[in-house]
Amino acid sequence: MAKIIDGKKISQEIKDELKEKAASLQAQGKTGALAVIQVGEDPASSVYVRNKKNACAYIGIDSLAYELPEETTEEELLRLVAELNEKEQVKGILVQLPLPAHICEDKVIQAISPKKDVDGFHPQSVGAMTIGEPGFLSCTPAGIIQLLKRSQVEIEGKHCVVIGRSNIVGKPMALLMLRENATVTIAHSRTRNLAELCKQADILIVAIGKPRFIGAEYVKEGAVVIDVGIHRNENNKLCGDVRFEEVEPIASAITPVPGGVGPMTIAMLMSNCVQSIEEG
Ligand code: NAD
Repeated sequence: MAKIIDGKKISQEIKDELKEKAASLQAQGKTGALAVIQVGEDPASSVYVRNKKNACAYIGIDSLAYELPEETTEEELLRLVAELNEKEQVKGILVQLPLPAHICEDKVIQAISPKKDVDGFHPQSVGAMTIGEPGFLSCTPAGIIQLLKRSQVEIEGKHCVVIGRSNIVGKPMALLMLRENATVTIAHSRTRNLAELCKQADILIVAIGKPRFIGAEYVKEGAVVIDVGIHRNENNKLCGDVRFEEVEPIASAITPVPGGVGPMTIAMLMSNCVQSIEEG
């Protein structure tokens, strides 16, 4: 039976630590706000935006909401980002993705000042992470590192297979595991013999974006399995990329969905915001 890695509990611990830190920064006169921009009314995005505002309220930092209509032009959005870059009190800028198809996401991400890039998506943040310089870390992968460390999972020297090579999860995840001295393999849609490769992993991080894709045949006895996927099944219930009930008896530790990786992303966003306030 695997140990269940409780992301809800660990994210709560982190948020409580951040709440204390934000209060002590405030006592030193250091405050700031997170600006959250949403374009259009995608229901999933609205839920994420609401959760981010609630997390700010919990930690004790201000949030400024910019809810823009679907027809907002790229130019208008870039103008707003430029204004927020200049605003002293705004310490973090978050543009909720995905953006409507007529707006280039890369252009918008690159317009955010790296000093306020609390999502860690700006090429400068990614470059800094790659060479181990200070900067904002991408929230979901940084959250997974915290999950592993706070669950006493040893990373150094372990073979980690990351399935997925997206810019927001797979690639930064692999880099952060490398930074922790794991031996890292990245698998993706063109990888051959995926099951055989995954079976060699001491730590298997699954960000494949396909509901319940990974079953027992991909997992070595005693491996640690981190499921990044979030999907809704036909009964509108949340599930991950992993067939939990099949993998749990083989793994030594595993994250559930919900209550695993998901809550960590917002906790790490808050961590980046507090870091930004601290750095002024
Ligand atoms: P994505 O679709 O951009 O990337 C999926 C990756 O999986 C790709 O790099 C692709 O090469 C790889 N892949 C696809 N099919 C494959 C196959 N058959 N064999 C091997 N590799 C294959 O997705 P993403 O944005 O990286 O997100 C991955 C999952 O994580 C999604 O379910 C997403 O909803 C979830 N997610 C969760 C959080 C969170 O906070 N928990 C945050 C971001 C993403």
